Amino acid sequence: MLPLAHPAGNPDGLWDYAWPFESFPQPGQLVRAPFGRREVTGFVCGEGTGDVPEDKIRPITSPLDTPPLPDAHRRFLLRAAQYTLQPAGAFLKMSLPPDSALRANARTKKESPPIQDVSHLPPLAKLSPSQSDAAMALTTSVAEQTFSVTVLDGVTGSGKTEVYFAAIREALSRGLQALVLLPEIALATQWHARFAERFGFVPATWHSSVSERERRLTWKGVATGSLKLVVGARSALFLPFQNLGVIVVDEEHEPSYKQEEGIIYHARDLAVLRAHAGEIPIVLASATPSLETVANIRSGRYRALHLPTRHGHANPPVIQAIDLKATPPPKQSWLSPPLREALAQTFTQSQQAMLFLNRRGYAPLMLCRACGHRLACPDCDSTLVYHAARKHESLHCHHCGYHAPPPTLCPECGAEDQFTLCGPGVERVAEEAASLFPQARMALMTSDHAADPATLADMVRRMEKGELDLLIGTQMMAKGHHFPRLTLVGVVDADLGLQGGDLRASERIFQMLFQVAGRAGREDLPGKVLLQTHTPEHPVMQALVEQNRDRFMDLELAFRKHSGMPPYTRLASLLVTSLSEEEAHRTAMLLAKKAPQITDFQVLGPSPAPIRILRKRHRYRLLIKAEKTLPLSKILRDWLTSVTIPSSVRLKVDIDPYNFL
Ligand code: ADP
Ligand code: ZN
Repeated sequence: MLPLAHPAGNPDGLWDYAWPFESFPQPGQLVRAPFGRREVTGFVCGEGTGDVPEDKIRPITSPLDTPPLPDAHRRFLLRAAQYTLQPAGAFLKMSLPPDSALRANARTKKESPPIQDVSHLPPLAKLSPSQSDAAMALTTSVAEQTFSVTVLDGVTGSGKTEVYFAAIREALSRGLQALVLLPEIALATQWHARFAERFGFVPATWHSSVSERERRLTWKGVATGSLKLVVGARSALFLPFQNLGVIVVDEEHEPSYKQEEGIIYHARDLAVLRAHAGEIPIVLASATPSLETVANIRSGRYRALHLPTRHGHANPPVIQAIDLKATPPPKQSWLSPPLREALAQTFTQSQQAMLFLNRRGYAPLMLCRACGHRLACPDCDSTLVYHAARKHESLHCHHCGYHAPPPTLCPECGAEDQFTLCGPGVERVAEEAASLFPQARMALMTSDHAADPATLADMVRRMEKGELDLLIGTQMMAKGHHFPRLTLVGVVDADLGLQGGDLRASERIFQMLFQVAGRAGREDLPGKVLLQTHTPEHPVMQALVEQNRDRFMDLELAFRKHSGMPPYTRLASLLVTSLSEEEAHRTAMLLAKKAPQITDFQVLGPSPAPIRILRKRHRYRLLIKAEKTLPLSKILRDWLTSVTIPSSVRLKVDIDPYNFL
């Protein structure tokens, strides 16, 4: 009998190994095994094929001293790899204990993970009738322990968190584990505090900035079942839960759930796959569900629960568009007179305001006045962004991280000191706000100014405590925070994103603005949202002002259907890159030539990607559009294995792509 192991870091396929040990291997047992000239980690899948001759077969080096990967988790890994066309080994790698646990010494071996005591769960908050109905539906699903997807669709401030707490409580009371995914680790602190207040213990956290020791303990606690609740970023999905009973994906519509670097996957979609593999319920919570999710509700695949009103006294904010053509800001400034007035009034009443602009840095563009030349990244096909906060290396490429001091001579025409900064980034808006309101205490909430969780948590705390009057920031600021004294939200450029040719531009801007709008007036004080726009007549603006989400969704879904786009079809993107333009082009052409001829399976391109060059690599894209009934992953797999890709060419496969750049 030859057990089978599945080495990490290797594409799909299973290998036969001999098991030279006395005790019988358990399925899911993690092992070290020789692979080529290396030694890799894998897990035992089951019996071998018996096809490898006895003198050729290699023995497993050693079993790892860790709990085996549970069945549901293994099923999940293999299905995730099948669905996304990413190597199974890459997903396995994310499921392994942290390195330091694998190199465990006497001290770390003895470490025992914290125990979350769930024997005395406190009662839930007193729920309103609609909250209570929704909570009841969720606890029933958790009690059933079968696969189901429920969308918790409720306006911001309606108490979605309180409601899904009921589902978590139900799982914990049954001795099951629960996983909550958040789109942004910045939200974890507030979430923690709130959870601890209700449940009397602190949940475990999982994201990229968690310390090595904490990772080690959390992994162990999750795998042995002593930890009951984990809240984390998308990678928490790969923790090998021993006994998972429910998954919650909060703010399910957030684009940040899509991982685009390295291994490409959408955490919400894989969370659904994980729930399916474990035959457990999953809850998707959002005030603005993604169109994919809405289409699944309308077709009856997902169930929706609605929370139509804000909790308590809080009323929805008033949303108004400021027509920038009628009341433009003064020259070289970005805040219009009506917005300035509203800010002044807010500060006079000792209330708080937010200014939202989804653009990092000081100015998105630096150009030469003499010849019009734009400063661009030498390695990418993109302009350089000017950051005021970074004194010397102030020009940055947001695509590859290239940075440099601004030149004095124009590289194009040689003119001296003719550079001018165009357009605003958040830093420039902050400068303007500071000169208008020198007394206001303000902070910038962006990935540059609040890069680490501690700084960010501190900013949130100061805002909650009323130690700040004005928060200026990017989308990072838009998510889930609850600031009782916040009554004004100004959107500096509501048009940003509407022009971009990408499929989800309107959807994204709508969700983002709706989300930002949801920050205002969450308690007794009435909230107001002002949208600066050049196109107040645009359907997205109108739907926002009327706060008519469903009309927006109807419009957008009709448009997608008409143009044969997701969620009515499925897309996949193949990105071919090489240092040599010719080679990238040739490989892309070869792929196109070998494309399968199947009805309702359309191959568009190859064409140069909108960012033609990134980190010196030339980029060509093929876009595949398929009917939803076709087995897309399988067709792609067969196609791609039929083409030999030169080793200097990289092929990136992205199923259900979000990024078309
Ligand atoms: P959402 O997640 O839908 O934006 P939250 O769950 O954050 O809404 O609720 C908004 C605010 O209302 C929070 O401060 C929350 O504690 C409060 N809240 C909601 N429902 C209740 C309830 N049933 N009892 C007490 N407070 C509630
Ligand atoms: Zn670059």
